Amino acid sequence: MPKPNYLTPEVEQFRDAFRAFVAAEVAPHVDDWERQQAIPRSFWNAMGEQGYLCPWVEEADGGSAADFAYSVVICEELGRSGAMGIQTAVSVHADITVPYLAELAPQSMRRDWLTRCTSGDMVTAIGMTEPGCGSDLAALRTTAVRDGDDYIINGQKTFITNGIACDLILVAVRTDPDAMPAHRGISLIAVEADTPGFVKARQLEKVGQHIGDTGELFFEDCRVPRANLLGEEGKGFSYMMRNLQRERLMIAIAAQTAAEQILDKTLPYVKERNAFGASIASFQHNAFKIVERATEIELGRTMIDSIIDEFIAGEDITRRVSMAKWWMGELANRVAYDCVQLHGGYGYMREYPVARDFVDVRAIPIYAGSSEIMKLILARMMDLVE
Ligand SMILES: Cc1cc2nc3c(=O)[nH]c(=O)nc-3n(C[C@H](O)[C@H](O)[C@H](O)COP(=O)(O)OP(=O)(O)OC[C@H]3O[C@@H](n4cnc5c(N)ncnc54)[C@H](O)[C@@H]3O)c2cc1C
Repeated sequence: MPKPNYLTPEVEQFRDAFRAFVAAEVAPHVDDWERQQAIPRSFWNAMGEQGYLCPWVEEADGGSAADFAYSVVICEELGRSGAMGIQTAVSVHADITVPYLAELAPQSMRRDWLTRCTSGDMVTAIGMTEPGCGSDLAALRTTAVRDGDDYIINGQKTFITNGIACDLILVAVRTDPDAMPAHRGISLIAVEADTPGFVKARQLEKVGQHIGDTGELFFEDCRVPRANLLGEEGKGFSYMMRNLQRERLMIAIAAQTAAEQILDKTLPYVKERNAFGASIASFQHNAFKIVERATEIELGRTMIDSIIDEFIAGEDITRRVSMAKWWMGELANRVAYDCVQLHGGYGYMREYPVARDFVDVRAIPIYAGSSEIMKLILARMMDLVE
């Protein structure tokens, strides 16, 4: 397969170094962290010390001004550690939330926040979803009302990755309840975790991805300085729509990597395990299933690599990343389903990594815009629906 442009020799070298870091600092702890349902701060700081957190941030703000290829490698190698929860937590911080700060944070706070984000002293989250709305973000009800030099925020957010661990959260709020259309009344405000009125109410019990926390959060007369507004008032929705393309790219990369690593680790098992005097892999039904998934995985790799190249080149990836996000999310689930089946009873036991993968990948077609929302975006782009 031809190599994509982004995989330069320097990036490959970086992959070797980061893979060694993951083998030493992540893999041995995955089971403990899964049980504890938390990532220790020492992991974030170790990532920061080595320059692995937000390497794309400018050097003056603590980063290495590295291109997006390095974020890709970090995402893929964390995924290959076999614990998708840690990959999600790091992506949400480093490639989903911090880009908003780099672009839109007030000058007075920008350097302080970015430096702490790259060192691991500040972990971030982004709160868009509410109990009453997820797909239909324009319907969000959390309000921020101006009061002198402050905003007072009231409302609730749920399913927020890093919601419990975070030191700073970007909150999507309604600043103009009368705006028409409604999405023009939405803004983004940064809230530091020690702000009175910001309540980390509950760590939610998920089906999978136990390592990373997912929180239910409340804002009760939470007063933040007006300077914490990101960008302009009323433009929050358009900022989110723009940044969601990078978010969906990260999730598609995670999905593709999951599909690859799940099949990779299933192959030796099915070649070795015997039934009826032959290997499980050698039964034509199983061999054909594996070949079908392997073919899809290769198609997916070609597609994701070309989208990554386009993204780095500054092209608009909205159409293709929407395709990739739904298709690769569902591919990862097809692969996980078949690989559990190929493992038989062992595939249903938590001590087998494939069992963890099976529950971990189930979230992919739901978050960051569900498969149905991706198809809706595409149907609109093709003038099929309003
Ligand atoms: C593990 C996890 C982590 C998450 N992390 C975050 C986070 O960090 N920050 C954050 O803000 N949110 C986060 N979310 C929330 C996630 O983005 C939402 O769950 C998702 O957008 C779906 O919204 P919802 O749950 O309200 O479902 P709903 O919007 O109620 O949708 C329910 C179902 O209806 C379908 N549906 C909705 N509208 C349509 C339509 N027009 N046509 C066809 N079908 C439709 C959906 O696809 C879905 O299948 C996370 C969720 C999970 C599970």
